[in-house]
Amino acid sequence: MSAGKDDLLSLSVHGDIRDLLQRKFRQDSVIYYALSRNASIKDIIEAMGIPHTEIGAIEKGADQLDFSYIPQPGVQLDIRPIQAGSAPTEPTFLRPQPLACCRFMVDINVARLTSLLRMAGFDAESVPESAQLHTKRDIAEASAATGRILLSRDKALLKHREVTFGRLVRAQDPPSQLYEIINLYGLRSEVSPFSRCLKCNDALVPVTKESVAHRLEPLTKKYYHRFKRCGSCLSIYWQGSHHQAMLDLLTPILPESSQH
Ligand SMILES: [Zn+2]
Repeated sequence: MSAGKDDLLSLSVHGDIRDLLQRKFRQDSVIYYALSRNASIKDIIEAMGIPHTEIGAIEKGADQLDFSYIPQPGVQLDIRPIQAGSAPTEPTFLRPQPLACCRFMVDINVARLTSLLRMAGFDAESVPESAQLHTKRDIAEASAATGRILLSRDKALLKHREVTFGRLVRAQDPPSQLYEIINLYGLRSEVSPFSRCLKCNDALVPVTKESVAHRLEPLTKKYYHRFKRCGSCLSIYWQGSHHQAMLDLLTPILPESSQH
């Protein structure tokens, strides 16, 4: 006995998340999916290749649905990506408990993002490579427990239900990955270069030259006059040779008001 379309779930997947679908689901604009068990829409979408973290809305006509919805045969759904500029600090139907602020946990497969996010002024920690976090579930739970957005290129990691806020980083090179994250979460107005320690993630505080003079090399002491110091590791920062290169890298995402 062959099934008609009335026996199948119909899914229209919109936007760039179509690229994440397994190849066999990418051919047609409407996917007809055979329901074999009482699976949630989260499990169905993820079985087709898209981690739930990438979904911005699940719609049945004019109705919004959440990830626990169990589709019945004959239902037609629209699956939409998270729109650029969506702040995780605002509640949405799929994620009614927003984050208090945008902080990040960076997986080792996008490791360069840690220092780039810090350079732009954001709170970013690397996934700890400690013995306590040896499974993907441990990492997922750690990101949720610390209220951090999990950034990764690992689909399986992001499929863990513990992860509410995460991003399957699409861009290949680290600067483009940074721009992707800033634009996705609408963070451009919060970019604050050289406000955070690249080594330990703590805030930098302006200090007088006199207070750090004893720790400066002679040429640094001669040519630079403005200094900042990390509150935790006490590293000293000044606008030396790396400064302009970093500023050039950040230019595409600097707030409009600070561009000339
Ligand atoms: Zn530091």
